[in-house]
Amino acid sequence: MDLFPYKPRKNQTAVMQTIKNTLESGGDFVFESGTGSGKTICTLTSTLEYALENHKKIIYSTRTNAQQRQVILELREIRNKNKGVKEKIFGIGIQGRANMCILARNDLEFAKGTSEELSKYCSNEKKKAKSTNKDKDKGCIYYRNFLNKEKVETVKEWVKKELPTAEEFIDYCEKKEICSYEINRLLMRESPIVVVPYVYVFDLMIRNMLFDCLSVPEDDMVLVVDEAHNLPNYIRDLFSAQLSMYMLNSCILEAEKYGDPGMVDGRFSVSEFCKILNEIVRDLRDTYIYGILEGGIRREPVKKNDAFIPSHEFETEILSRLKITSRTLHDIVGDLMAYGEKIQEYRQKDGKLPRSYLHKLGLFLDFWISLEMDQYAKLVVDASGGKNPRIEAFCLDPSVGAAIIRDFHSSIHMSGTLEPLEEYRDSLGLSENIELIGYPSPFPRENRKILFIGDVTTKYDEISKDEKILTRMKDYVTNICNTFPKNTMVFFPSFNVMSMFRNQVGLDKINRDIYFEEQEMSQTALMELVTDFKEQGNENGDGAALFSVMGGRISEGMDFPAEQLEIAVIVGIPYPKPTAKQRGLQRYYDLKFGKGWEYTVEAPTARKLLQSIGRLIRDEKDRGVAVILDRRTPRFKKYIKDMQESKNLIQDIQSFIGN
Ligand code: SF4
Repeated sequence: MDLFPYKPRKNQTAVMQTIKNTLESGGDFVFESGTGSGKTICTLTSTLEYALENHKKIIYSTRTNAQQRQVILELREIRNKNKGVKEKIFGIGIQGRANMCILARNDLEFAKGTSEELSKYCSNEKKKAKSTNKDKDKGCIYYRNFLNKEKVETVKEWVKKELPTAEEFIDYCEKKEICSYEINRLLMRESPIVVVPYVYVFDLMIRNMLFDCLSVPEDDMVLVVDEAHNLPNYIRDLFSAQLSMYMLNSCILEAEKYGDPGMVDGRFSVSEFCKILNEIVRDLRDTYIYGILEGGIRREPVKKNDAFIPSHEFETEILSRLKITSRTLHDIVGDLMAYGEKIQEYRQKDGKLPRSYLHKLGLFLDFWISLEMDQYAKLVVDASGGKNPRIEAFCLDPSVGAAIIRDFHSSIHMSGTLEPLEEYRDSLGLSENIELIGYPSPFPRENRKILFIGDVTTKYDEISKDEKILTRMKDYVTNICNTFPKNTMVFFPSFNVMSMFRNQVGLDKINRDIYFEEQEMSQTALMELVTDFKEQGNENGDGAALFSVMGGRISEGMDFPAEQLEIAVIVGIPYPKPTAKQRGLQRYYDLKFGKGWEYTVEAPTARKLLQSIGRLIRDEKDRGVAVILDRRTPRFKKYIKDMQESKNLIQDIQSFIGN
């Protein structure tokens, strides 16, 4: 079987051969291959060939819905070019229940429900729909239609014929008034490829549901991790937990609404217990972040917004303020969960989302008290300018959640920016013997120019002392935008630096349209903005500037072929902020691998730079120039070998574009 739909380039043949060998030996393969080099199509084709011949299933995991869509489009391409085995080439895209449940999708409250809350709600609706009692509420209409076999078969046939993306599939089901989530569960069994968000693989509860639907053992599945450079941080977030003052206030309101029962033989009520927790969180913030000593004296001006707290201080404070034993605290945790479950039931009976903040509080305390400290750091974080401090158990070690990878028959991990590959392997705790390969870019080197400027920086100490640095940076950006009528993106290390740049130096001298990515922008608004910007690069447009951030939705996930983007200006080096969390991470990697700086600072920063630069070149005809405005750029020479310092920026860009 040879399903590859194009004439393969040299690199692509090499990638496919290594994937084939990996699958045959039941091993794992981690590789980096530049953006636009065809990783998705190579991986999809080789894993599909193997799966069809050996009766395996492919779990293709992606971080974003846009990546998922890309996989389905490539699959259609494979099918179009292999008409003889058309029926066998089939895959489905699955999204979270909040998107797939048509009831939730059209209801503001439900759309914000967690997967657990929606799952509970859905079970109840299904029970009602199946009930034969005609006088009762008949439950979810989309499920009632799902109980009609004929309707289900019609939708399944349509899916197999059309190979829709998840969005197209959900829209179709909505028109037919049938539950897309339930139909997907049926299709999963028949489909050789299931494209899922990471959460379906790395969250235990959701994974169990997925595996139940697939009905095949793990060692008959092949795992693909797309855009793998995101996975370690994704797992860290998934396995971390937080308790904020806002959350505790919601607990207090909930307790008061539902009778506020007494705890520990009536010594205090649930809301009083939550108020004590609120005071403790605030006091931890005052002590460890604000540095307030007893008597209310502040040690020094506040320069940070997070700090480590001693591992047992939170629970010790609870015991001492409430004068209870740790045994009693365990009982309180159990009571909170039981009480929360009752509230969930009441809400469900009222037709509301079965949400209980007290239940979540019980789960958090249970997790916090039983935590293995060597893989976690406990912190207090002062979010939102002092209004909502929180405590946080931050997962330092993503291997905590990556053990499942070893259970698959094979796993393939890929990204355009994954070097150093050892860091990825070590972070996830993959075997020392797995195959690690970095493929060179297949595109002509001369199509890309990377320049850096040595007389500016975004290093905080320097720009706070010398205002002229920011002005010089503004001049560089303004001159580039005003000299070259080409679509230009200006990337900043963070939204904060971007707004400082906008407010302090102003952009009024730029004579062309400027678009700004905003932090809270909805996905729809962002897509509209990007589409408008791309059109400005077309023949009839004048070229525009788009101001965006590194590590964001634009720099990490969107394609800008040909004239849609020709110049990328990178304002400063996107080093991680020197927070307590970052220090904890660095120390952990120092102790575990002796590579704290390289693995937690240098490599993630280089990846963000390369992802932004990677927007420029998407195929062999694409040309583009990147300019990095920071004198610290040469520190990344080992990752960006073709960088050159420019002493005359406009002329250097001119001569490249002229060529
Ligand atoms: Fe939502 Fe489907 Fe469950 Fe109805 S049956 S509640 S549409 S997931």
